[in-house]
Amino acid sequence: MIQGRYANIIIDISHEKVDKTFQYKIPEPLLGVLEEGMCVQVPFGKGDHLRQGYVVEVTDRPQFPEEKLKQVAGIAAGSLPVEADAMKLAAWMKHTYGSTMIAALKTVLPVKQAMKLKEKKKITRLLTAEETRSVWAQALQKNQKARAKILEELTEEEILPYELVREKLGASQATLKSLESQGVIRIERESYYRNPVKLKADREDGRVLSKEQAGICGRVLSDFDEGKRKTYLIHGITGSGKTEVYLSLIEGMIKRKKQCIVLIPEIALTYQTLLRFYKRFGDRVSVMNSTLSAGEKFDQCERARKGELDVIIGPRSALFVPFPDLGMIVMDEEHETSYKSETMPRYHARETAEYLAGLKKACLVLGSATPSLEAYYRAQKGCYELFTLNNRPTGGSLAAVSVIDLRRELKEGNRSIFSRRLQELMEERLAKKEQTMLFLNRRGYAGFVSCRFCGYVMRCPHCDVSLSQHLGGRMVCHYCGYETRQPQKCPECGSPYILGFKAGTEQIEEQLKARFSGIRVLRMDADTTRKKDSYERILAAFSGGEADVLVGTQMIVKGHDFPNVTLVGVLAADLSLNDSDYRAGERTFQLLTQAAGRAGRGSLPGEVLIQTYRPDHYGIVQAARQDYRAFYEEEILYRKLGGYPPVIHMMAILITSPDEKRGEALSGRIACLIKEQMPPCAGHCDIQKDEIAREVTLIGPARASIGKINDIYRFLLYCKSPKYHCLTKIKDQVERYWESAGIKEENIQFDFDPVGSI
Ligand code: ADP
Ligand code: ZN
Ligand code: ZN
Repeated sequence: MIQGRYANIIIDISHEKVDKTFQYKIPEPLLGVLEEGMCVQVPFGKGDHLRQGYVVEVTDRPQFPEEKLKQVAGIAAGSLPVEADAMKLAAWMKHTYGSTMIAALKTVLPVKQAMKLKEKKKITRLLTAEETRSVWAQALQKNQKARAKILEELTEEEILPYELVREKLGASQATLKSLESQGVIRIERESYYRNPVKLKADREDGRVLSKEQAGICGRVLSDFDEGKRKTYLIHGITGSGKTEVYLSLIEGMIKRKKQCIVLIPEIALTYQTLLRFYKRFGDRVSVMNSTLSAGEKFDQCERARKGELDVIIGPRSALFVPFPDLGMIVMDEEHETSYKSETMPRYHARETAEYLAGLKKACLVLGSATPSLEAYYRAQKGCYELFTLNNRPTGGSLAAVSVIDLRRELKEGNRSIFSRRLQELMEERLAKKEQTMLFLNRRGYAGFVSCRFCGYVMRCPHCDVSLSQHLGGRMVCHYCGYETRQPQKCPECGSPYILGFKAGTEQIEEQLKARFSGIRVLRMDADTTRKKDSYERILAAFSGGEADVLVGTQMIVKGHDFPNVTLVGVLAADLSLNDSDYRAGERTFQLLTQAAGRAGRGSLPGEVLIQTYRPDHYGIVQAARQDYRAFYEEEILYRKLGGYPPVIHMMAILITSPDEKRGEALSGRIACLIKEQMPPCAGHCDIQKDEIAREVTLIGPARASIGKINDIYRFLLYCKSPKYHCLTKIKDQVERYWESAGIKEENIQFDFDPVGSI
């Protein structure tokens, strides 16, 4: 075997400028030891300071004359090597989404440092029960109370936890030492895993699957056994038994000695969900999410690696738990925007799961009540296999939905945010002691403060956004955290009528209390859920009947069954239609469908009222009909006509600069570069050039919709193309230019098929 004598190493700094590999000589003792993926220490820069880096290649080809190469100092202590698959995944991410290799590596490594296992001590009896009893008798005779107590316990149990003996039995260290030296007991250390799942519940078998459910499971597992690896999309209304299908599929995978990753949006990772998996798979299921400590994360990865876990549940980062024999990835609520990373590399969990499934020869199961346009489009094209679940196994029908035209309300003299019909229905619920949920389809808080006299709006001095009004007269910038007090007078004209624009959940709560005397209201929004567990606490209180109404933002429409909720009101359904990106219609449809799914989950029939200023928008019309197919047909047409994903692909290039003029000039240069297609370099460049000229459209550069954040100016360019690889080619070219131009103060980021406004 030829051993490479040189290592190409990537230095651990998340910065464009050093995102290339540096070559080092491998010292004698490490020849044949150093492998791809290992974390090493190397001298770097002028002062030869030791830096950490990852070996990406071991080779026999020196890039420079031997004498110019520095030597690897050693393997970094306590570091974890990157496994080959993780290395591939990182390289794929770098290529597909545009980021530094180091940023990609950091993303695919759930933990970077090895952690010590936790230890606990235990006391083991070395004598037989008989013998122990006689030693106990002796101790009693000599009136050695402490000894006697332990010995008594040991006649019953062979092993006792050290803590129990010390605390509950009050044994001193000296007593234990003397027992140990007399050969009665042994004190041992035992290591154990930190387990973030703190549940105790009896195991429960699955339900007998319905014909529809069994059909899906049968198909997926028989494909698997035949060696076919596919992506499946389960489109099923809430409560149609998708989770039951996942559970049953996992069971099938476990029988085949395979492990599974279950992705769910962070917000849906609740006690109830976890409990359901725990009841089915006991200790062989665990979780992975951002709230775990480094030690807990490390231990879950160790358990997975050693085959001691069958299932891991978590948000998108759970994808990177290293299973030896991954069989299936499940992605529930596949349409959720939280599956797209907001930091570099801006990966989408669905695409990444697809790549990972390919790498590991696993299958991928997506599920949603309102599939993303991406997934459904692929299913329509036959790339995914589509299953539909149309019924609820528990009976329970969909709620009756009606739409209220708020324009008419206003015309007929009702200025309140509650339509007359909603007020009537709420009165009825209050009388019957049933519960109502009111949903404000809006992100963020109460909104901006403006002068009613001159129109002046309070803005952040560092960002291009208005300040948001908070309790106690505070005004906060949600982008940089800048805070100031609400002025008494307009800074512009001196008028005292400088007021908040009232449309937040807090104001709704106020108006409810004014309209319905004695009403008990719970509120759930970013303000009331800032503390840990407050989300769960509010839901539990509502579920326990502590309030008549729950008012909230989109947080309240997820998961959770409240059997006593028989009315759901959406206060202004079109608010989310005003978001300035092409997914606004899709998001509105999803939110409304989910909100509608909250009513009538129990035995009582439910009713849903959608109030809106745009009753004829297809997103609202089809959500009211709960007709996903009809919505999809109209939405995909809009995407085709407008040229938006999933019909084409989009790449946003965000250029940021502390200097407005420089940022502007630089984005102009990048735009020219893309237009010119760069001078041909070699070989078939001209063909590429033609393809790019034919297949790519460039939009911009322009100031981003938020033109400044934290005193940094932001410029955007969009490239659109039906071919993803044309976009990655442009990205590579721009990256090369960026590197060669030696740009220091400016920053560049790529975002493929962006979600939300940038
Ligand atoms: P989804 O994930 O689509 O919202 P769930 O799997 O949570 O649906 O199922 C909704 C409810 O129906 C749950 O209470 C579940 O226990 C029950 N359920 C699912 N499948 C069956 C079945 N085959 N027989 C009886 N009850 C079922
Ligand atoms: Zn004013
Ligand atoms: Zn700001």
